Amino acid sequence: MPSNTKPLSKKDLEVYESKRDLAADLLQSIREMKAGKTAVVFSAASEARQKTGLSQFAALLGVSVRTRKAGSKGGNSPAARPGRCSPSRERIRRRFWRWRASRGRRSLNRIDPPDRASSPPESSRLRAPGPAIMFRADMDALPVKEETGLPYASSKTGKTLDGIDSGIMHACGHDAHVTWLIGTAKVMAQLKAQWSGTLIVVGQSAEEAFNGAATMVADGLYPKVPAPSVVFASHTNPVWPAGSVGMGQGRRRAGAEQINVTIKGIGGHGSTPHASKDPIVMSAQAIMAYQTIVSRRIDQTEPVVLTVGAIQAGTVNNIIPDQAQLKLSLRWYSRQAREQMITMVKQVTDAIAVGNGMPADRMPAYAITQTVSPVINDHALVAIARPALVAALGEDNVYPGLPMQMGSEDFQMLGDPVKGVKILHMEVGVAKPEVLAAFMKSGAMPQYMNHHPKFHVELPTIAAGVKANAAVLLALLAK
Ligand SMILES: [Zn+2]
Repeated sequence: MPSNTKPLSKKDLEVYESKRDLAADLLQSIREMKAGKTAVVFSAASEARQKTGLSQFAALLGVSVRTRKAGSKGGNSPAARPGRCSPSRERIRRRFWRWRASRGRRSLNRIDPPDRASSPPESSRLRAPGPAIMFRADMDALPVKEETGLPYASSKTGKTLDGIDSGIMHACGHDAHVTWLIGTAKVMAQLKAQWSGTLIVVGQSAEEAFNGAATMVADGLYPKVPAPSVVFASHTNPVWPAGSVGMGQGRRRAGAEQINVTIKGIGGHGSTPHASKDPIVMSAQAIMAYQTIVSRRIDQTEPVVLTVGAIQAGTVNNIIPDQAQLKLSLRWYSRQAREQMITMVKQVTDAIAVGNGMPADRMPAYAITQTVSPVINDHALVAIARPALVAALGEDNVYPGLPMQMGSEDFQMLGDPVKGVKILHMEVGVAKPEVLAAFMKSGAMPQYMNHHPKFHVELPTIAAGVKANAAVLLALLAK
């Protein structure tokens, strides 16, 4: 480990281990983040700059914090204009798609890898000597009715985007993530003498929808904050016990695309299929043919998934509809495999349309509705972070990380526009120790994984998460 990366002392952490303080901090931080302050910047070597731009957040942390004020110069994005810091969901969505469309991502005719030929303009005003590290906590909850029975269980209810009444629960532990963010920011602020560089702390929305990070970028995150060389995030993990972490090298979370395929037909009476072109039959052919993309056409050593999660077509028994929509989810690690899968979906579906006699002006249409890149942990960063974690938590509490998963994340998209950005992801244990013991014995995943109504974060996780995150950041920002 770097010689100056000291483990945090008990005294350093005392203040953060009070649950009451953390609860108050959490509430305060959520208020701040809801007010549109999506990023704050600490700058260890810029005391003078820190004397301006004080916010409640700064007062809370006991340090000076600089945030881009609404209406200040330096951003052409709508978000930088007065009154536009908290645009409505719809406006964000539209802006996101304009940005995505401008990058050619929606068109299957252009499936270029992310354009990293140039980085976003640098925000030098906020930058201190040394590396810039971005630390992200996602803030969103899930439409799940909490069944933990805890005295502080969520009793919130609301409506999903589809208008369905639902309970609202932090069933993925993002409330713990926000608490770590606050605690980690406080630790880093108090230990400013021990590090050098710029720490960008990001509270991010809409991780579950996989578009929160990309939306923040589209909404003008840069140049409000300096371009980071590392984007770091940690996530609750109900396999490891509270007080421990897992960090693995290389492939961690898969890249993902959601693609809507519209198969056009020619509608008609159910009794005269010969006078129609049935898009439901074509959909059935396509769904089965897609499975051979994975099993026969992609290199078998490359992990990929192609799932058709929804098929929507028709109204009643005796009408052949004029179109059907398939909703596909693709998972991948290599960009080559991604591009192959997307191209092959198009080849297969177009061929089925041709084979069913569809005219050229009624060929299938394709829309990529979401895309995230894979999370691949940088080997050198893991080599720096791991000894710091061992020093902070003890050798026995630092696990090698779970095997790579085909599930996805989106924090890495915060670094997507930055040339050469490196990614680091850590799993933070939230379980009782007996859960890991049972997992080691049977190999079966714990019963209450993330998104389960009984998912639960053991409270010692809060202090341990702060300690682990701060240890990693101190190592990455070591003088
Ligand atoms: Zn999550």
